[in-house]
Amino acid sequence: MRTWKTKKEFKKLFIEKAEVLFEKNVKELSHREVYQIIATMIKDLVSDDWIQTEKIYNHKRVRQVYYFSIEFLLGRLLNTNLLNCDMEELCRSALQDFGFDLEDIFPEEPDPGLGNGGLGRLAACYIDSMAALQLPGHGCSIRYQYGLFDQRIIDGQQVELPDAWLRNGFPWEIKKSDKAVDVRFGGHAYMRPGKGGALVCVHEQYNTVRAVPYDVPVLGYQNRTVNTLRLWKAEYTRENMYGQLRYGDYRKALQYKDQAQQISRFLYPNDSTYEGRKLRLMQEYFFVSAGLQSIMRHYKKHYGSPKLFDRYIALHINDTHPALIIPELMRILMDEEGLSWEDSWRITTNSVAYTNHTILPEALERWSIPMFQELLPRIFLIVDEINRRWLEAVQQRFPGQEDKAREVAILWNNQVHMASLAVVGSHSVNGVAKLHSEILKINTLKPFYTWFPERFNNKTNGVTHRRWLIESNPQLTELICDTIGKDWVHAPEKLLALEPFGNDAAFRERLAEVKQKRKEILAEYLHKERNITLNPHSIFDIQIKRMHMYKRQLLNILHVYHLYRQLVENPGMDIIPRTFIFGGKAAASYGEAKITIQLINTVARLIDQDYRAARKLKVVFLENYNVSLGQKLFPAADVSEQISTASKEASGTGNMKFMFNGAITLGTMDGANVEIHQEVGDEHSVIFGLRADEVQRYYQEGGYSSWDIYNSDADVRRALEVLEENPMFGQLREALLDRNDEFFVLKDFKSYCAAQQEIERRYRDTEGWFRSSTVNIAHAGHFSSDRSIQEYADEIWNLDAVKI
Ligand SMILES: *Cc1c(COP(=O)(O)O)cnc(C)c1O
Repeated sequence: MRTWKTKKEFKKLFIEKAEVLFEKNVKELSHREVYQIIATMIKDLVSDDWIQTEKIYNHKRVRQVYYFSIEFLLGRLLNTNLLNCDMEELCRSALQDFGFDLEDIFPEEPDPGLGNGGLGRLAACYIDSMAALQLPGHGCSIRYQYGLFDQRIIDGQQVELPDAWLRNGFPWEIKKSDKAVDVRFGGHAYMRPGKGGALVCVHEQYNTVRAVPYDVPVLGYQNRTVNTLRLWKAEYTRENMYGQLRYGDYRKALQYKDQAQQISRFLYPNDSTYEGRKLRLMQEYFFVSAGLQSIMRHYKKHYGSPKLFDRYIALHINDTHPALIIPELMRILMDEEGLSWEDSWRITTNSVAYTNHTILPEALERWSIPMFQELLPRIFLIVDEINRRWLEAVQQRFPGQEDKAREVAILWNNQVHMASLAVVGSHSVNGVAKLHSEILKINTLKPFYTWFPERFNNKTNGVTHRRWLIESNPQLTELICDTIGKDWVHAPEKLLALEPFGNDAAFRERLAEVKQKRKEILAEYLHKERNITLNPHSIFDIQIKRMHMYKRQLLNILHVYHLYRQLVENPGMDIIPRTFIFGGKAAASYGEAKITIQLINTVARLIDQDYRAARKLKVVFLENYNVSLGQKLFPAADVSEQISTASKEASGTGNMKFMFNGAITLGTMDGANVEIHQEVGDEHSVIFGLRADEVQRYYQEGGYSSWDIYNSDADVRRALEVLEENPMFGQLREALLDRNDEFFVLKDFKSYCAAQQEIERRYRDTEGWFRSSTVNIAHAGHFSSDRSIQEYADEIWNLDAVKI
């Protein structure tokens, strides 16, 4: 293949591509076409390294990990890939010669709609870090035709539009039709004595769905490693259609075709809430089975005996959505490779490791047995046998104690408990922040912890500093490099060298200039693109994340309303101007979350319409928060709002993106906030509210009455008056008072207001503020996903780096 390494070659190939792809000369190209051409050129450029990477992995038979996740929230890839192959400046300059500005090209790329929020973004950061660290690790997921909805705000309310992100194609992918595999659904499965008397499984009258892989290259950071993100698309098979037609049933044949294609059509829009829909279960089995079949095929070709599978292959499951990998590997090893149950079980549990993401009971996956059995009859037989053997072991240790069995059963109450399956069938169970991992042991997964204490461990989340600092905030990146050199780019913990510069007035001044610049860039963008006017000299206080009651956007907006009321009563009040920025999608079926969006927009309007308040306060709800918008917001933030009810947020990763960009955390002792606070101390973060153990104690022992707070605190009573603005808000009032405020909004209100005053007090001390900002950046290195992934590689996967 002809490729490019110099500007001259770039320009020559660019002109050729313009002709071949669009039959245009360069002057006629639209920005979108320029984007498509460059993406194609980068794909060509890295194809040799991609092939080479795979060759070396296969030749050396290195141990590899496959990271299964039902979401990968990738964000745009053009800038990332240019940075990774070190071609950004060359490309920028060549385009300039053609009369294009690279900055105008980036926005042409739609955000791939392959994820919801934190869990999917984590998976994207993790494959980025695996490639950066030259670890043989690949992603495995679904190629959803429609992503999470496009969010519009109309009359203050969320409206969901379909996100047809693939409309103009996805130039980063390569379809691999020859690597397709078949996945079976339905039919009947039973055991029958085979040769020599051993039982063999018969599975008949099933439907097959064809799984076709689309591979996306995952580039290491300037190191020639190119790993693979494999996305599966569901297609119907002609054979199967013919099969139905042979029985004379034309309608059934078309129905089958429709159903098959449905499987990879939509991403489910729920974050942190479980949805027990049949199609979702089909998605889960679909990508797990396809992924594992293709891994096994590749493994047998290059590595050899399935008996040694676990020596070479690690399988990681990001939450329980891919937990069917456990019975599926059992199926392949027994039914297709002829191994015994005992050997298969040893190989399976040695291969699989599980990351838990939540303690919210409403988010733990459970499937109805009749549905599961009908859809996956062979897999059900295996799960049933796993459960039987497991409960036998439990009975032996605790004879006659049925409650012990109930706590840990995989099949119970006519349901399949996916978390139980994941723990029993893996060798490692990790939480995603220290606090979360402790809560798993003493609470959520306590009975399992007493059985398998050695399986439980912690891997605190991280984010890729390449995207969230280097790419998003070049101004800050330049300042850091000017100050401490470039070592930190490859070794982010070396950002610590920045800490002493917090005491350097000249450095702090430059840091303040960078922050000011980033606030102006954001203000300009919002003015131009969304007709929103911000005061860039106000404090930018930002809460961007999925809308959820446990994340308590409600607490934030009630405090804003409290400020508004104070200003109306006392217009002379001396406060620093504040801009409160919100962003986040609410699941379409999550009523309270959608009403909270309405409430935020109502308060925004109240303030805009009142001169006394509008001079000092501004509230904006930005529609369609996604990775690309995030990349503009994190660099512009002064204050990072991380105010979830303690114990509810497993880790959070937004908190880390803010930290890399020098914002001060205003947070509860929850998730990774605890570790951020541990890094920077009380002096450089502002912590408030109930602690996790206090929250848990209230849940277990009672003793909290939100009515008591309402009756005794005039500020709370006054703040809740905003809920009388619109009858819709009655639902929120009910949740806070009549349903006793499950998330302790009123309980934490007073200490949150005090914490906000503390923020203002600190902001007035410019020197202290930018010292804190410096300390946060310096300690952010610990929250790079490079650190997380190195821990996974060392402590769970037993994986070594491979030079390419
Ligand atoms: C980082 C990120 C999240 C996760 O944010 P949290 O504050 O940790 O919930 C969600 N969505 C997008 C687009 C992100 O970039």
